[in-house]
Amino acid sequence: MMTYKPADGILEALEAIQEAVHIAAFTGAGISAESGIPTFRGKDGLWDRYDPEVLSLEYFHRHPFEAWMGIREIFYNNFLGAEPNAAHHFLAQMEQAGLLQSIITQNIDGLHQKAGSRNVIEYHGSSSRLACTGCGRVADFEGSLLEELPPRCAVCSDILKPDFVFFGEMISEDVHARAAREMSKADLVIITGTTGEVMPACLLPWEAKKHQATILEINTNPSAYTGSLSDIFLRGSATEISNHLAELIFKNMS
Ligand code: NAD
Ligand code: ZN
Repeated sequence: MMTYKPADGILEALEAIQEAVHIAAFTGAGISAESGIPTFRGKDGLWDRYDPEVLSLEYFHRHPFEAWMGIREIFYNNFLGAEPNAAHHFLAQMEQAGLLQSIITQNIDGLHQKAGSRNVIEYHGSSSRLACTGCGRVADFEGSLLEELPPRCAVCSDILKPDFVFFGEMISEDVHARAAREMSKADLVIITGTTGEVMPACLLPWEAKKHQATILEINTNPSAYTGSLSDIFLRGSATEISNHLAELIFKNMS
């Protein structure tokens, strides 16, 4: 088995970033772990404590109250008050410096935007909006909506659902097309904190590879990409590696 030290590959990563013309980031739950938001899989992951069924569309329609009890606890209670960490800030700084063109995230926590990133494609939607299952109206999330569950539409009183993708739900075609286009344009993809196992999102970086992109991966543990898709694997926490890279990239720029 291969072993990795945190600094392994860091100079190779720096060179890849400096040489790239179009960089896209692809992020998963691991980038937000150090902001206090639990991941689904892995050690202390949410699936150790919850049944993934609470996020199935079928269960939501059959038991909206119970589904919302789980959703509020799993997501909203963890997201409220969460702040972006150094890894989110690093990607925002890269974009501001003209070094990063886009972020495609599987996350629904809004932390990339909170860090100042602008071109963010939320592949799985967002927790910051609630969509009416009756009339389709989309409302901005407000804490008061969750005081009484399930939350209801102000217009037609039907049940509101978080505007993120549940199990059994399709990805919007428009979002998928934009994400795939970004991937096909990238000559470097920086993947941070994802197992690479959630379909069909996990296929996106492969799209970049088809177009000869270099893949740089940051993760505390090897993922489905490590040793197969990734050209460079930086093993360590997202904040630790991001701080290290930021130091090398921006030390001469300020
Ligand atoms: P995952 O939960 O399946 O896996 C998390 C990955 O992050 C693992 O590979 C793990 O090794 C890595 N990781 C954990 N802590 C890390 C750290 N500090 N630094 C770097 N890497 C770290 O996540 P996933 O693959 O993104 O898929 C789960 C699905 O659930 C996605 O669709 C995601 O959107 C959703 N989800 C989102 C949030 C959120 O919005 N913050 C939270 C949980 C799950
Ligand atoms: Zn409505």
